[in-house]
Amino acid sequence: MLLADQRRLLCEYGRRAAETGLVVGTAGNLSVREGDLVAVTPSGVPLDRLEPEACPVVDVAGHLVEGDLQPSSETPMHLAVYASGDAGAVVHTHSTFGTVVATTMTGLPPIHYTVLLLGGPVRVAEYATYGTPELAANVRAALEGRTAALLANHGGVTVGPDLPGAFEATRLLEWLCEVYVRARAVGEPRVLTEEQLAAVAHRAFHPPVFPVRGDSPGFPTRED
Ligand SMILES: [Zn+2]
Repeated sequence: MLLADQRRLLCEYGRRAAETGLVVGTAGNLSVREGDLVAVTPSGVPLDRLEPEACPVVDVAGHLVEGDLQPSSETPMHLAVYASGDAGAVVHTHSTFGTVVATTMTGLPPIHYTVLLLGGPVRVAEYATYGTPELAANVRAALEGRTAALLANHGGVTVGPDLPGAFEATRLLEWLCEVYVRARAVGEPRVLTEEQLAAVAHRAFHPPVFPVRGDSPGFPTRED
């Protein structure tokens, strides 16, 4: 079986996505790339009932290489993402809060600094019918310099170096959207400025170094 490990991973993370409520039924799809091949979830099978053999393998041009079932209808979107960068995995869901934001906003405002883990403020890709090359192109544009994007009136998509990474990005995207939606219910959320985000990015690359006790007379310790 081609890409056996990758197809097993699709089953594992498909189950996780269903169990954590990120997808309902067949509303979501995942893929993993290995060289010129992509293992993708099949069309019409609930993600918590996947078997490795049921996950088709296609080449990066979209030709079916192995598998009896049809690849996900969003396979063109997955392939467009792989064609535009070095992503190793793609996760697409119709998660609740992501879809709420994608239905009402043109972007997710940067209300929390962890949005930098997704490359910056998340864009909403322009609406197009699911499964079309137009949607694939819109998503590809919205992902420029990012690891996450929302799809207008549809859901969200994330990329990662591998499936665990792309899945974590989906969990973070959903959390950020939930915080934003809930914050809107309480008041007008404060949005972080570019300067505040730049300070966070700077700190990530220049973490504080805490002196070892005893090495730094100027740093008070309990014994002092
Ligand atoms: Zn979808």
